[in-house]
Amino acid sequence: MHQAPGTHIIDGKSFAERLRVDIALRAAKLKAARGITPGLAVVLVGDDPASDVYVRSKGKATREAGMNSYEFRLPASTTQAELLAKIAALNADPQVHGILVQLPLPKHLNTSDIVNSIRPEKDVDGFTDLNVGRRSKGFSNAIIPCTPLGCMILLREVCPQGLAGKTALVIGRSETVGKPMADLLLRADCTVTIAHSKTRDIETLVKDSQADIVVAAVGRPEMVKGAWLKQGAIVIDVGINRVNGKLVGDVDFDSCLGIASAITPVPGGVGPMTIACLLENTLRAAGHAA
Ligand code: NAP
Repeated sequence: MHQAPGTHIIDGKSFAERLRVDIALRAAKLKAARGITPGLAVVLVGDDPASDVYVRSKGKATREAGMNSYEFRLPASTTQAELLAKIAALNADPQVHGILVQLPLPKHLNTSDIVNSIRPEKDVDGFTDLNVGRRSKGFSNAIIPCTPLGCMILLREVCPQGLAGKTALVIGRSETVGKPMADLLLRADCTVTIAHSKTRDIETLVKDSQADIVVAAVGRPEMVKGAWLKQGAIVIDVGINRVNGKLVGDVDFDSCLGIASAITPVPGGVGPMTIACLLENTLRAAGHAA
C-alpha cells in the first residue's frame, strides 16, 4: 500500500486479517474448553444481488474462523409472520449464537419489528432497541454494531495515546453507522459534532470544526475534500459507493494525502473490519451462552 508524505494509510484489510486469525484461535479454545462451536445464522429475504454477495462473504468468513454458518434464503414473498417464526426458531436453537437479518428487507415487512424479535443476546448486529439502549447508556453488555466497532478499533490503533479530549466530526446519523459511531466517540471522551443532510454548508462546518477525527458515513461518493480538513486530521471513510464499476468512499482520498495524518482507503479500510467485528460479536455471544 502506498504512503504519502505524512499520511498513514490505515491498512484495515491486514488489521482485519490479524483479528480474524485471533478470533479463530479463541473460537478453537472455546470449543476445546466448553464444547461450544459458535454459530451464526444469516437470514436473507428476497434476491437482491448486493445482499446476496454480503451474505456469501459473511458465511465464508464465519466458516474460515472455525464457526458454524447457517444461511437461510427466503423468497421475497415471505410474510411478516413467516419471518417472525423463522427468527423464533433461531432464537430457540442452542447451536445458533448470533442471528443477522440482512437489510434492507422487502418493503412489505416491518424491519423494526423483525429486528426486535431477535433475542438481544443473539443480536450480533447490535440493532435491537435493547442493545441500542444499553449502548447509549454505556452498559458493558451492549452488543455494538459491527461497522462502528471496527472504526473504533482502527482509531484506537492509530491513537495509542487514547482518544480522550479529541474533537470528532461524524458526517451521517444513520441508526446503523453514524449515530452509534458518535455514541462510541462520546463514550471515548471525544467532543463530538454530528452532521447530516440538513446541515447547512457542510464544507464550512468541517473547516471550522478543526476536527482531529472526521468520520464520513454518508453514501455520497468522494464528498469530503482534503481542503476541508485540518492539517493532521485522522479520516475514517465508511462510505462504499460504486462509480463506473469502481469502489470509492465518501472521502476524496487523493486530496487528503499530505493533509490527513491517517486515512482509511476504500476498499481495504473499514469494510474488512465490519466482517471481522461480526465474527467477534458472534464469538462473544457464544462465550456468554450457558
Ligand atoms: P444511510 O442510512 O443512507 O445514512 C446516510 C447518512 O448521511 C444520513 O444520516 C444522511 O442524513 C446523511 N447524508 C446524506 N447526504 C448528506 C449530505 N449531502 N451531507 C451530509 N450528510 C448527508 O447510510 P449508512 O447506512 O449510514 O451508510 C453510509 C455509507 O457507509 C454508505 O456509503 C454505505 O454503503 C456505507 N457503509 C459501509 C459499511 C462498511 O462496512 N464499510 C457498512 C455500512 C455502510 P439524514 O439523516 O438527514 O438523511
